Amino acid sequence: MKISIVGGGPAGLYFASSVKKLNPSFNVTVYEAKNESIAAYGLGYTFQVLGSYLLERLDPKFFTNLFGSEPRQKIKTAILKTNEESQTHSFTDGYSVTRREMMRYLINLAKDNGVRVKEKKVTASFLKSLQQSSDLLVGADGVNSLVRKAYADEFGAAAKKTELRYSWFTNESPEPIKQACFYAFKAEEGVILLTSYPLTEKQQVVIIEMTQDCLQSALLRGKSPEQAIPYLNEVLGSNGGEIDLQASGLPWYEFKMNTSTRLFYNNVVLIGDAAFALHFGAGQGLTTAFTMGHTLASCLQRTKNLKQALTHYSQSTQMLMHKPARQSEAQVQWLEQMDTHCAAHSGVDLLTLFGKKMAH
Ligand SMILES: Cc1cc2nc3c(=O)[nH]c(=O)nc-3n(C[C@H](O)[C@H](O)[C@H](O)COP(=O)(O)OP(=O)(O)OC[C@H]3O[C@@H](n4cnc5c(N)ncnc54)[C@H](O)[C@@H]3O)c2cc1C
Repeated sequence: MKISIVGGGPAGLYFASSVKKLNPSFNVTVYEAKNESIAAYGLGYTFQVLGSYLLERLDPKFFTNLFGSEPRQKIKTAILKTNEESQTHSFTDGYSVTRREMMRYLINLAKDNGVRVKEKKVTASFLKSLQQSSDLLVGADGVNSLVRKAYADEFGAAAKKTELRYSWFTNESPEPIKQACFYAFKAEEGVILLTSYPLTEKQQVVIIEMTQDCLQSALLRGKSPEQAIPYLNEVLGSNGGEIDLQASGLPWYEFKMNTSTRLFYNNVVLIGDAAFALHFGAGQGLTTAFTMGHTLASCLQRTKNLKQALTHYSQSTQMLMHKPARQSEAQVQWLEQMDTHCAAHSGVDLLTLFGKKMAH
């Protein structure tokens, strides 16, 4: 079977290794646009138990191969902080890993398994010829997927553009920080959310999120993430603990949520964020990408009938994603209204929100 995969992110590369391992005779090629994923600095993940389990199925030595000889500390606790309070909770998400580390590891793993990885951006016209020349075309090209757009109606693709904006930073802390941090600070402009995970003893990867209204308010309007740093440091450091954000060179992004009602059409199938992109608050993206890659590879191994295999994959993934998609939608709706919610209530509501997040 000839399989072409558009997108060499976690979903595409995990699926590529998995399907090749189960079926060594398959001809598997991944097309990755410019390897942006390797060049991107600091975009990170926390790494859940199921994600570790799925990697271990492909590579029993994944931990050493992923992190090298650098010992990596497990994140066991999280600090939840608002203007008035600070609480410590247990945290189950495990290890933090940079996007750069994860992609380098997954590309090497795919190549070791006999997958061809080509650095090429797939265009709409190339997509057509790739579909015709492949037995199976896999859309693993992320939240703005070209493959998803090409067959949007057939996939029942719904994309919710939200009022939420975010960007990536790093933080240098004077003292070692071993915890994940979830901050929600009310400022005059609106609520500023911080999510951070330790990368090294004194450096953390940070996501700052707020509503579009907040970003358009007098003090922040027109400011790039870098230009917003002095303001963010002041607001987020106002309840103790110095904040020293460093720019990552990335812009403010609009958070977009993808859902689909059917994951295949003829010989084209979607996996990862191209199929479902949920709010990152639950920290499940990587695990979901691996799970879809694993499920699709297993379905293809179980039956030689392509339509049957894709139907099984589509149905089981829909069942798996139904609840998280609904939860993500509710979370996004709440976050879009957070400036109003928090104007009316005390910061305790935010701790309740984060408390729920811990339980996921
Ligand atoms: C702010 C934020 C924080 C997050 N935090 C976490 C976290 O802590 N833990 C977690 O598990 N998940 C997290 N996620 C979610 C996670 O990033 C995604 O779910 C995951 O990366 C999805 O993997 P993917 O392979 O489907 O898509 P992507 O990671 O987007 O990969 C798609 C790949 O396709 C390539 N591509 C795109 N178009 C083309 C084309 N036309 N031709 C060729 N290649 C193309 C891209 O270059 C990219 O490498 C977070 C997401 C965000 C936005």
